[in-house]
Amino acid sequence: VQDDDLGGLRATRQRRAVLSVVEDLGVFSGARAVHEALEAGGHRVGLSTVYRSLHALAELEFIDSIRGEDGETLYRKCAGESHQHLLCRHCGTAEEFSASAVKALMEAWVSVGGYRDVEYVLEMYGTCPSCAFENDNRSC
Ligand SMILES: [Zn+2]
Ligand SMILES: [Zn+2]
Repeated sequence: VQDDDLGGLRATRQRRAVLSVVEDLGVFSGARAVHEALEAGGHRVGLSTVYRSLHALAELEFIDSIRGEDGETLYRKCAGESHQHLLCRHCGTAEEFSASAVKALMEAWVSVGGYRDVEYVLEMYGTCPSCAFENDNRSC
């Protein structure tokens, strides 16, 4: 990643550190979790800076953002290009899937209804196999 692409030199070092932590975490994580990981790695960054950096990185499309079920924005460096997520509500693991067929259907509904400037969010939440396994073992 070029420094210029990250949005100017001043913010670059922090954004680079935030980006690398998000990459390392590998699962959808909120600003607090990213902040904790940064501190654990010896970076002294304020939580509000982490919020701003995550937001900027998502705007620049270096990372994906998704609204968790509790309303917190979660971030991850995804592998694929255009995709939706099936997100584990317990650990933040996510599968990427293509929803082009569903999107085509939704766009057809929109055109029938005559609405303009329509936005929609298409995400799925569940319990991943490994969290389900842990849950089952706990209750036994
Ligand atoms: Zn993604
Ligand atoms: Zn899980």
